[in-house]
Amino acid sequence: MSQDTLFGKIIRREIPATIVYEDDDVLGFKDIAPQAPVHVLFIPKNEAIPTLDDVQPAQAHLIGKLALAAAEYARREGFAQNGYRIVMNCREDAGQTVFHIHLHLLAGAPLGHFGT
Ligand code: IMP
Repeated sequence: MSQDTLFGKIIRREIPATIVYEDDDVLGFKDIAPQAPVHVLFIPKNEAIPTLDDVQPAQAHLIGKLALAAAEYARREGFAQNGYRIVMNCREDAGQTVFHIHLHLLAGAPLGHFGT
């Protein structure tokens, strides 16, 4: 499948990124414009799905893999007990700017509520 997005270039190491997590299916790297003290993006490495709305039932496991990668990273880095937030933006009204699905992990400070 095409990896022809900014994140595809990160997967192929064509542009630099601070990679903090990797397994067979998932790559995690620091967001270039962090919105919290910890802000890491987790993306599927082998499938370039544009949005959550494009995920097919046979690909559903990838969403779980992203979430579990974020949880493992939080435990490894020692902030799982204090807590964290995961977010996936879907299309324009949510502010999605890169159309290769990605899970935001935000942590490192009380985050407050959001929604409007
Ligand atoms: P979205 O708004 O949910 O699509 O999230 C895209 C995220 O990618 C934003 O938080 C950006 O700051 C981040 N981003 C854009 N370019 C880069 C990059 O080159 N490296 C790391 N993060 C990036």
